[in-house]
Amino acid sequence: MTLIIAIDGPSGSGKSTLSRMISRALNLLYIDTGSMYRAVALTVIEGRVDPSDKEAVVKLAEGLEINFEGDPDSLKTLIAGRDVSELIRGESVTEMSSVVSAIPGVRRAMVARQRELGKQGAVLNGRDVTTVVFPQADYKFFLTAEPNERASRRFQELTSSETSLEETLADMVERDHRDSTRADSPLKIADDAIVIDSTGKSIDQVFQEMMERISRR
Ligand code: C5P
Repeated sequence: MTLIIAIDGPSGSGKSTLSRMISRALNLLYIDTGSMYRAVALTVIEGRVDPSDKEAVVKLAEGLEINFEGDPDSLKTLIAGRDVSELIRGESVTEMSSVVSAIPGVRRAMVARQRELGKQGAVLNGRDVTTVVFPQADYKFFLTAEPNERASRRFQELTSSETSLEETLADMVERDHRDSTRADSPLKIADDAIVIDSTGKSIDQVFQEMMERISRR
């Protein structure tokens, strides 16, 4: 039986950690769709492609060979076999990923790849996996938390000391706004998604809550 668990939510909502935990618990493939948009962003930056040249960005996205390798805890993102897992976490890539992800042709290419990768069953997370990629998923979750808490989680993950918590919050609010207001596949709560607000909760608490929902059906 192929099981699809789709998890959407804004940045810092705990999606990645929880997707990892669930995919490990259920022995499912983990697909972090955000890493795919980040891979496109990295290629745009490295190739000095003008992000406002949508045609060029779409062409690049369509030709990109993105793969994941390894178990959920040490999932690697590969572009044509090259491990870019670290590079795609940089601030400029983060910013650029939300710019290129608003281009419809880029989304079309990524969604096609995500459906292909997930067809044998998977835990997927992102901004549109419950609404566009797998609207018929067996389980759909929308994770959220208050912006201050999400920003402080993100801030703790950052390795560079150049950014302040205030800057992290401001960047996050700007990116959330762009992701939620774009015309194509904006971040929104699917009608039948289970909404979990993780503000003030531990990761283990949220994990238990999600696993209970999954075993209940
Ligand atoms: O989840 P993550 O922060 O890695 O995603 C980076 C960016 O990729 C998001 O800000 C968003 O613009 C884009 N994204 C998207 N659709 C997805 C996953 C990510 O547009 N399914």
